[in-house]
Amino acid sequence: MTKIIIAIDGYSSCGKSTLAKQLAKALNYIYIDTGAMYRAIALYALRNKILTADKFDVERLIKSLPNINVSFSYNSVTNQSETYLGNENIEQEIRGIEVSNQVSKIAKIKEVRAKLVDIQRELGKQKGLVMDGRDIGTVVFPNAELKIFMTAAYKIRAKRRFDELVSKGDTTTTFEEVLQNINSRDNDDTSRTEHPLIKANDAIEIDNSAISQMEQLKIALDLAKSKLANQ
Ligand code: C5P
Repeated sequence: MTKIIIAIDGYSSCGKSTLAKQLAKALNYIYIDTGAMYRAIALYALRNKILTADKFDVERLIKSLPNINVSFSYNSVTNQSETYLGNENIEQEIRGIEVSNQVSKIAKIKEVRAKLVDIQRELGKQKGLVMDGRDIGTVVFPNAELKIFMTAAYKIRAKRRFDELVSKGDTTTTFEEVLQNINSRDNDDTSRTEHPLIKANDAIEIDNSAISQMEQLKIALDLAKSKLANQ
């Protein structure tokens, strides 16, 4: 059966990964979370003091890139694909506010993007893939058969992200911090020179401010099925 590539782009915390995972499951496709790859490099830079509160040694990061090994491995217990830095499972650590606050600085660097886009294209060679991020439909797979651009009201997104952090046991991050983080990442992601977040001309927009996850999945699955029927 023909397989397609589904590219999902959009603003921070608007449920891209939730939809992408559900779509991948329903279609029996692979799901790739490209944000996790940028987060993994941010974690490496923080741990190695390449990026600190007062300096960012971009040259050192670029020199280190060949040694940074980001990959995914499927965990049959959680039923999720989890992110690895070398041999270490960093899935939890990359979701915290420290990495969230720094990742957009990392995502601006041309050499970082070139490395990750190469890996992402390699992962998509066989098709049968749902990939979410900021530049998937514009740069990584400009010929993706289905492109979805997701958005939701800013405060709704912050509330969802805050609730998610709380449900994972985070008792220190405040709602204000989450709001601030989403605002600044949206600004950084839309204004950067390299692969800024923009809606591809042929992307279909889904605003999920007022729809449920089930409704959102139905819209996306119908779109995927109609693309598949036309292959
Ligand atoms: O998707 P997530 O919020 O985990 O992404 C973290 C950050 O990684 C984004 O704020 C953005 O700066 C960067 N990113 C990117 N391009 C992608 C995916 C994520 O620049 N394709």
